[in-house]
Amino acid sequence: MSSEIDGLRNAVISCTACELSKSRTNAVPGSGSINAEIVFIGEAPGRTEDIQGMPFVGTAGKILSEALAYAGFTREDVYITNIVKCRPPDNRRPNRQEMDSCNNYLQKELEIIRPKIICILGNTAFGSLLNGNAITKNRGKIIKRNDQLYFVTIHPAAIIYNPDLRQILKDDLKALSGILDKIKKGIPIEINE
Ligand code: URA
Repeated sequence: MSSEIDGLRNAVISCTACELSKSRTNAVPGSGSINAEIVFIGEAPGRTEDIQGMPFVGTAGKILSEALAYAGFTREDVYITNIVKCRPPDNRRPNRQEMDSCNNYLQKELEIIRPKIICILGNTAFGSLLNGNAITKNRGKIIKRNDQLYFVTIHPAAIIYNPDLRQILKDDLKALSGILDKIKKGIPIEINE
């Protein structure tokens, strides 16, 4: 299994499938445990991630790490990745073509890890994976699609612009930790959609 993820990482690192490969410094494959029970999915690498080749290592990453710790997770327990693996210029949102051409990498990550639940971080991942929108209205929901559970919350970068959201992200991840516990113990959970 680890050779499979290594092969995938190498494919991401050398990918030239879309225009983003021309402007990136480094492609950013997912990182964390391949035995993770939760996979967190953000939007796309930012400047620091592009430089370091690692997801969520800049300001938004620090906010995510803090919320993970509050909920009792370490970054090593979970797996963290993005919808697209290369930084869009000026941190613009990835477009549909970029998301589509990167989707096979995300699907492969999920096939290898087979998480019990996927945590969607923000509107871009929500839209791309579940066709959702209005994250602030939908956050905290548990959604089941094709036998896969999803939990929806805000993107950590939203807290940079609205510090009031910091506690909301922390509380959501704590709730997610409780949901995971129930799943593992076979206790029924309330699915919202
Ligand atoms: N924002 C994201 O969505 N992903 C990162 O890796 C960093 C910032």
